[in-house]
Formats: sequence, C-alpha cells, structure tokens
Amino acid sequence: MTRWMILRACAVAIFGTALGLGQAARAQSAPEAIRLSVDATQAPQKILHAKEAIPVRPGALTLYYPEWIPGEHAPDGPIANLAGLHFSVGGKEIPWRRDLVDMFAFHLDVPAGATSLDIQLDFLLSAPATGFSAGASATSQLDLLSWNQVLLYPKGYAAADILFEPSLRLPDGWKFGTSLPIASQNGSEIGFYRIPLDMLVDSPVISGHFFRAIDLSPGQTPPHEIDIAGDSAAAVAMPPELQLHLRNLVTEAGALFGSRHYRDYHFLLTLSDDVAHFGLEHHESDDSRLSERSLIDDTLRLDGAGLLPHEYVHSWNGKFRRPADLATPDFQQPMKDDLLWVYEGLTEYLGNVLTARSGLYSQQEYREHLADVAATYEYQPGRTWRPLQDTADAAQLLYFSGGDWENWRRGTDYYDEGELIWLEVDTRIRQLTQDKKSIDDYCKLFYGGPGGKPELKTYTFDDVVAGLNAIAPYDWRTLLTERLTSTDAHAPLGGIERGGWKLVYNDAPNEVESAGEDAYHRLNLRDSIGLSLDQEAGVSDVIHGGPAYLAGIGPGMKIIAVDKRQYSPETLGEAIERAKLSTDPIQLLVANGPYVAAYAVNYHGGIRHPHLERVESAPDYLSEISKPHATQ
Ligand SMILES: [Zn+2]
Repeated sequence: MTRWMILRACAVAIFGTALGLGQAARAQSAPEAIRLSVDATQAPQKILHAKEAIPVRPGALTLYYPEWIPGEHAPDGPIANLAGLHFSVGGKEIPWRRDLVDMFAFHLDVPAGATSLDIQLDFLLSAPATGFSAGASATSQLDLLSWNQVLLYPKGYAAADILFEPSLRLPDGWKFGTSLPIASQNGSEIGFYRIPLDMLVDSPVISGHFFRAIDLSPGQTPPHEIDIAGDSAAAVAMPPELQLHLRNLVTEAGALFGSRHYRDYHFLLTLSDDVAHFGLEHHESDDSRLSERSLIDDTLRLDGAGLLPHEYVHSWNGKFRRPADLATPDFQQPMKDDLLWVYEGLTEYLGNVLTARSGLYSQQEYREHLADVAATYEYQPGRTWRPLQDTADAAQLLYFSGGDWENWRRGTDYYDEGELIWLEVDTRIRQLTQDKKSIDDYCKLFYGGPGGKPELKTYTFDDVVAGLNAIAPYDWRTLLTERLTSTDAHAPLGGIERGGWKLVYNDAPNEVESAGEDAYHRLNLRDSIGLSLDQEAGVSDVIHGGPAYLAGIGPGMKIIAVDKRQYSPETLGEAIERAKLSTDPIQLLVANGPYVAAYAVNYHGGIRHPHLERVESAPDYLSEISKPHATQ
C-alpha cells in the first residue's frame, strides 16, 4: 500500500485544478475545507465515531446526510444507523431539528460570531449481512469504510464544490488500501489530501488484520493493485493462477477500451461470510465483497468469477461515461434509472467477456453462464406484463424486492437480459461489417479519450444510437426500443444464435448454475417442476404457471415428503426422474404455515439443465468474443 504513496502525493498536486469532476469555477465559490476525522478503532465492536469541523456563517443552516448512493441507484443511504449526533460552536451545544419531510436533512441556527461548527456523530455498524453498502461491513478482523456513512454536508453546494480534509484512525496493526491520495501516516492514524466530496464518497477504504496488497501491473503506468482484507490468513492467500488471471484482466481491459480514466486503480476485496455480498463501483477502485473462501474454494471462485471484472468495467461505463439522468450534482437529488440497461447491462456483457478473456472463466464456463442466463429469462413469465425498460425505470424498488415470485414480478433484469441484448448488438456489428468491426470498436469510440485521470462525460439514449451507427450503420434505435418494450414470453436469444450456438436442455448439471446452487445452498428446479428450494426445503420461488404452481404450491411453503418418503434433494430428484416413465403425478407433502397438505405435481419431462450447443452452419462468434485478445 505504501508503495503508491509517493506517486499519489505527486498526483494530488494537480488535483485541485484538474481532477475534480465539478465546474472549473468552483475555486471561487467553494467554502473552506471541512475537516473530517473518523475513528474506526471500535469497528470490531460495530460502531464508528466521526468528528467534523465545518466552516460556517451565522444564521440558518441545513446539513444533509447522503441519501442517493452512486452505483446503488436508489435512496438507500443508511440514515437509521446515524446516532450520537451533536452540534456545537466553541464547545457550546447547538440545538437541531430534523426536517419533517426530508428525513436526511437537519436544520439548526448558527449563533452570531461563529465561523466553525463542530459535529460529532456515530455510525452503527450492526446492520445484517444483506443488501449493499448499508449492510454489514465490519467483522472482528476487517472493515470497509464508506465515507458517505460518516459525514454531513451543507445544503447549497454541488458535491464537487465541497472540499473535505479526511483522516482515519484504524485498530492497531491493521493495514489498509484505498485510492485516496495519502498525505501522512503515523502508526494507525492516516491523513488524506483535500478532496472534493464527490470523490471522497467515491473512494472507500478497506482495512483489516489479515490483509494483502498485490501489484497487478508490475512496472507499468498507471499502477493497479488488489487490496484484500479477509477473516483469516488462509482467505487472503490468493493462488498464483488467480493473480495471473487478474493481471490478464487489467491488460485485456486496456486492450478493450484503449485508454484508462484513472490515476491508478485499486481492487478492494473483502472476504468474509459475515458481511453483505455485492460489488460497488468507483472511479479508481471498487468495493467487492465475497464469501471468506472465495479465492481458495473452486465452487465459490466460479460463482464469483465475474464480480471484479464487472466492477472494473464500471470505471469506464458508469463512472467516466454516465447516463445524464444518473449524474446528479449531490446525494439528495433523485436519480433516474431509465438507462441502467446500458450502465449495468453493457457492463454485465463486457464484464463477463473480460472474465473469459482473462481466464477467470474458461470458454466453456462462459457458455454455461450464458446458457444459465438464457434459461432464466425463458422461464420468466413476468416478461409478458413487464417490459425490460420498466425493470430499469423501477430499479430503486426492485433492488429491494425479495426473491419470492421474482419470475412473475421480475427483478433487476437489465443486468442479465441486458447482457443478452448487448451480445446481440456485438454479433450484429460483426455480421454487418463482415467481421471487420465489433463492440470492441464501439468501446474505443465511446469510452476512449486521453485518460489518465477521473473525468465524467454524460450520455443519452441518442448518444448510444449515434455511437453504434458510427461503427456499423443500422437501425439500432428500432432494435433497442423493441428489446426494451417487448412483452414476448421468450428471452432475446438472437445474440447466442447469431454467435453460432443454441440453447438446449439435458440432465447434465450446468457448471455455473451448480456453483451458484452450492454457494447459496439452494436447489434450482426452475427448468423442470418449476420451483427453487433453500437448504431447509423451503420454497423460495415458484414459476408462475409452471407445474408446481398449477399444483397449488407457493413461495414460503416447505416440502416435507416426496412420494411418501421424507424429503431430501435426492428423493425429489429421483421422483422427478421416475415420473418420466409414468403418467402418475409426483406426490408432495407440503407445509403451509402450521397446516400440511398433499400436492400432486403433474410433470413428466425429467431433470433439465440449460447448455449451449454449437450450430456448425453459423460462424462461431462466441468463441471469437471470449478468447484472449491481448494476453496468451
Ligand atoms: Zn454494476
């Protein structure tokens, strides 16, 4: 970590004039820097302490707690876990009142003569290990600090116009990693250079007792590093093969986009079974959180293979280029999520392409992943009422909806169905240009530029269409609009088919689907009797209109017995296979709350798992897309 300190100190010398994402004129209008010191020494006890000193003028003052968290596309700032709030001037307590409509706003009167307001606050780290950055982020051995959780900022300024001077105290002996430029370090006390609020919130800090920092681009500029904090020494012992694949990822991403919009990049990886599992993108880093043994267990490795590539692609698609509707000036103004099928959908496509190109997926695993995605949307009747566009428009609701009835409600489908659509775009470009162009050319056009530092360049739907037309003239507007507004029962599989493959089913397990089942302890019978079960035999979802649904089974019920035998995954699988040779229904004894009843499932198609099968008459674009491009 200290490796980059000198370089970061050099970079920061130009920060105030060249790197901020706000308006060039802000130097004249900006208030003085807000000092923020965070004490994380009690993170293992699940509490953070923070102090702020804000330059103020006498009179009414409104302070905000960040509400809309970039990358989470929703108003989910964890305001309920803000505690111990005190305001004072010169040691004298100032009364405050929360706004009655905006729960994230605090009003107070600054007394005559005051020039600086002191704030004291705690952030409660006791959230459960679910959701996103508001979920559990600290264990006895590590902490992931999201700065938006430990600060207030004054109303009336863009986040890019407010300078912060942050410092952080860690538990003794903990190491740390961050993309923040480091000004000083004295034992466990770290001082960072002044930084605009938008960049501060974009720059989390990972720390922990079991910590490793690994250089992923030795001797090259810009530098890349992975900073890993885990719940054990074994967890952070990344195998050499995985290190090689991550180095390939850095190289392949450079080849795909042609430029890099950061001064250096830090993959921040938390490995724990007791934190929320997700990834959150930042301009010069990411915040990715996986199970403790994800680097050393092959099943968990396969299940999480695409996470770091996805978050890394966001440095280009999401941070550098961002939908205008998502580029809000502060953390209180609502974001509009209508272009998430580009922001997340194209990132999902490119992320998984890079997962394969870098070796984190084999080509076979990449195809198994695509087959699993294709089958998911083939078995999703909700698509007959809810077009894909509405899953993006309503993202701020769907991120927090449960998994029950997901196939009928639909979820945040602009990720994976978006991936299928962008595969269709890529294969169509290849076909239209007789293999001379591909989406790689679009990436260099749309995400190119001089690079070397964080910048923000917004875009609209029209810009996406114009960019595609510049690579391969076609009626992209109509194609994309059709995909976004369709209520067809079938998934858009044109990209797989144009890519030289087709979706088939047989009884052999799908490798990627199986890894997901093992990782999350669930049994997925979506493609046969039409339900999925948790490890306690609880029904987590039922395919609307499928065999289990028609038998009367719903989410929340629990399977007790199968054909008169006590339930186990094996007895259910064997019953499904037996029913292939019979006209008798599968008999399930199912608990629904305190009541138990028999249900007859009339299904005779056997166990089915999705795979891709080569179609020899079409060019094999999928293999061309997923093979290494810049590395061997
Ligand atoms: Zn994403």
